[in-house]
Amino acid sequence: MIDLESRRAKLIRDLRDDGINDERVLGAIEKVPREIFVPPEHFERAYDNTALPIARGQTISQPLIVASMTQHLRLFPESRVLEIGTGSGYQAAVLALLCRSVYTIERHDYLLRQANNRFARLEFNNIETRLGDGSLGWPEHAPFDRVIVTAAAAEVPHALMDQLVLGGVMVLPIDRRFWRQELVALERTSDGYRTNYLMDVRFVPLVVGQGEGRT
Ligand code: SAH
Repeated sequence: MIDLESRRAKLIRDLRDDGINDERVLGAIEKVPREIFVPPEHFERAYDNTALPIARGQTISQPLIVASMTQHLRLFPESRVLEIGTGSGYQAAVLALLCRSVYTIERHDYLLRQANNRFARLEFNNIETRLGDGSLGWPEHAPFDRVIVTAAAAEVPHALMDQLVLGGVMVLPIDRRFWRQELVALERTSDGYRTNYLMDVRFVPLVVGQGEGRT
């Protein structure tokens, strides 16, 4: 019998040591049962501070990255957030505990159905999901206070910039040359967009312009 409780407590301590100091973010990570979002064969590793493979060649992000991105989003309880790349649904669940509503888009039907089942099982009622190409955003629900992209592209998708409110924040990984990826925070200001480098990261690619994965 493995002790998930103590592994989860250790993860929270490690996140603190790694500079996560927003108590609301730590509280949300502590509340979301990550074991429900990882494939059954990785159950025991649910609270390891690592990314893990999920179906369709994708990954559930490392908890430290989820925590950092969430912290850099600077959420308010009334924020409306757009997420691109639902994947397992874990990041969306963490966000949903900290803001008014989460709109999340995934291109793989199979992953989205699994994520929807998890949201239902955990009784989240402020997460809306959609199958499709997230680089186009979700015009029907725009504009958003915050945007988070959990897959990497060479450029910030224009539709997502347009769908961000003035004063809004977008956190996303950007592909640079020589296989480097940078996590950046983009803020929309009255005279344009201000970009801040956060850290080097490694994400799966954002697949643009190919419609749904239908898998
Ligand atoms: N946030 C996820 C991480 C998933 S990995 C989690 O917490 O588990 C990134 C996801 O982005 C993958 O599931 C991939 O299928 C999806 N993705 C890639 N390109 C996309 C696009 N253009 N639109 C929507 N989803 C996309």
